[in-house]
Order: sequence, then structure tokens, then C-alpha cells
Amino acid sequence: MHYNLLAFAVPFFLFFIGLEYLIARKKGLNLYQYAESVANLNVGIAERLTDVFTAGAFFYIFDYIQKNAGIFHIGAGPLTWIGLFLLTDFVWYWYHRFGHVVNIGWAAHVVHHQSEDFNFTTSARITVFQAALRGVFWCALPLFGFPAHMVAAFLLVHGLYPFFTHTQTIGKLGWLEYIIVTPTHHGVHHASNPEYLDKNYGDMLIIWDKLFGTFAAEKEDVKPVYGLTSPLKSHSFLWQHFHFPLEMVLAFKRAKGFKAKWKVIFGRPDDLDPRVRPALERKFLNVKKENKPTLAMRQYVTTQTIFSIVLLFLLTLFSHYLTGTQLALMSVFILISLVNSGAILDQRRWIFYLEFARALVVLTAIGTLFPANTVLAWLAVLTLLMITAFRPIQRAYLRSLYGR
Ligand SMILES: [Zn+2]
Ligand SMILES: [Zn+2]
Repeated sequence: MHYNLLAFAVPFFLFFIGLEYLIARKKGLNLYQYAESVANLNVGIAERLTDVFTAGAFFYIFDYIQKNAGIFHIGAGPLTWIGLFLLTDFVWYWYHRFGHVVNIGWAAHVVHHQSEDFNFTTSARITVFQAALRGVFWCALPLFGFPAHMVAAFLLVHGLYPFFTHTQTIGKLGWLEYIIVTPTHHGVHHASNPEYLDKNYGDMLIIWDKLFGTFAAEKEDVKPVYGLTSPLKSHSFLWQHFHFPLEMVLAFKRAKGFKAKWKVIFGRPDDLDPRVRPALERKFLNVKKENKPTLAMRQYVTTQTIFSIVLLFLLTLFSHYLTGTQLALMSVFILISLVNSGAILDQRRWIFYLEFARALVVLTAIGTLFPANTVLAWLAVLTLLMITAFRPIQRAYLRSLYGR
């Protein structure tokens, strides 16, 4: 039997999210906003999904680098494990700092900071792009000479530890505050208050921030305000992922001369032309004053988020036993559901077409179980039904969801 045990990360994290929710409620803290939690989980689902397909590739790359270009050949031993722990945390510090102060890095990391909540779901808000950028920085470790299995083991540790630093339920941790990255340190990192900006990049040890002058402790009189300095005006999954790369593309087009264009890619995010985002919002978001989310919307989004999580768990656990077609169909279904959830929260009316695309994925999946003739007959009946009753079905669907 060859199950992918990484699947159990999903129920493990969900258990702690549930626990945090209950503790927060008991303490009378309001830490969870509905749309924020959905967005955080959805971004995390996409990253976990991609990880199923890419984790092996990173292991292969690390292994290749160490065997062919490794400066030293380091074996596993107590001292080398400690050395690697310090090195991974050091590399993390610089990868994370790069992600904040260089536009091309921020394009990958920004999504993690969009959440206006700071709770365990925020830790799930890691994108595929960020995981890829992290992988590039981590190539330094096999290049130095550490074998792939040691590096991969620390990738797991660095995947687990920061989950627990995204919470407001723990508070300050006494003398540990001087050594390790605690929830209050990382809360400061997620805050957009001027005194907290670009601080506390460390992942497990806070020593690097103290050493390189980027440390800030949470002040009693300055309550952190979480999220971006200019918050997003949308719950769209696609907008969350692509708004900053799009801002860079537009700023690059508008920039005059080589120096200005270079600055768009390698300059600081706060130096990017502030007129770019509103221009893109006008083009892509069509921001209107939305009606309040209906109960039906919330129920529907909740159901499909739960369904996506269950599907992700099964896909990961049985990834070695599923065929390429099954993996592709399940992945497309999940991805459409993620886009769909955000679009529903934005009350987009085009989601009906997306719904249609998702139904086709389901039909194709069912179709693979039946003879081609039967499937063709179904498709013919359904196409006829859609052609004759497209408008009434569309109207009924949108009214049941948005109440209008
Ligand atoms: Zn960050
Ligand atoms: Zn974080």
C-alpha cells in the first residue's frame, strides 16, 4: 500500500482551526470573518493541491543539485542536523525578506498578507508561487552539500511550525519571546500599522531579525491592524493571486526607460505607482456596492468549501492509485470550485457559466464509467435541455443564490 500520508495535514490543521475557533468564542474574541476564512482556506487548498504534483519534483531537484554540484558532501549526524536547522531558518529569513522588499518576491508573497484576520486559517494562505520561490531559495542547501532527504525533512518542519504562530489566542510567551518566533512576533509581521511594517521575517528563530535590525515587539498601546496597507476590494480567488503581477505588468508598460522598468521588477512594493491598482480595479473588478450576502450564498459556499477539502484529502491520500484522467478531473473540479466561491461572495452573475463548466467536469467523470454511446446520448439530451431552457435555468439559479 502506498498512501500519501501528507493528506493527514488537512484534518490535522482543521482540528486546530476548530479548536482555536472554540477557544476564541469562549474568550469572547471575534477572530473569524466568514469571507476571510473562506478565502484563506481556498488559497491553501490550491497550494496543497499543487503540492501533490510538485513535491516530488523539488525532491528530485534538491537531490540532483547535491549529487552533481554540492560543494561539500554532508552526512546526517547530530551536529549536521543542528547546522541545517540554523541554515534553513537563516535562508527562510532572507527568502521572506526578499518576498517583502522586492516586487517580484512580493508578487508571490502578497497573498499571504491579504487576510484581514489573523488566525490559524491565515497560515493556510500560502500560494503556489510562494512555495516555488521558497524552493528556489532552498536550493542553496543542497548546493552547500546537504542531502535531499535532510532538506525535505526541514521543509516539513518549516511547514508545520509557522501554522502555530498564526493565532491571537496564545499571547506572549515569557522568556521564549527572546529566542523563538512567537504568535505575537508573527502578528506584528502581519500588521499594517506603520510601526510594524516590514518587521519580524523569521520563521522559527527571532534571532535573525534582532541581528539584521528588522525586529519589533508588539506594543501594549498599538493594537495590530492585520492585512495590506491598501486592502483588496474583492473576494475573487483569481484577483487575490494575480492583482499584484497585473499591477507590475501595467506599471512596467507605463514606466519610461530602462531604469524605471527595472525598478518595477526589482524595486520595492511601496514605490510602485499607486494609480496602477485603481486603474486595474476599474477594468477587472467593476466594484459596486454589493448587497449583503444571502443565507443561500453562505450555505452554498460553505458546502463547496467542505466538498473541496474532502476531495483534496482523498486526492492526496490516494494520489498513487488514481489515473492521470481522474487526477486531472478532480483537480479541475476543485480549482473551479475555488474560483466559484470567491465569485459568489462578489455576487458575480457570470458564475452560472462557471457552474456549467463544473457540471461538465462532473459529467465527464461519470462518463468515464459508462460506454461512449451512453455518454453521447446523455450529452445530446443535456445540450438540448440547456439550449431550450438556458435563460429560465440561469434566472432560477441566480435568484436562488442572490435573491435577485
Ligand atoms: Zn510576510
Ligand atoms: Zn504569516
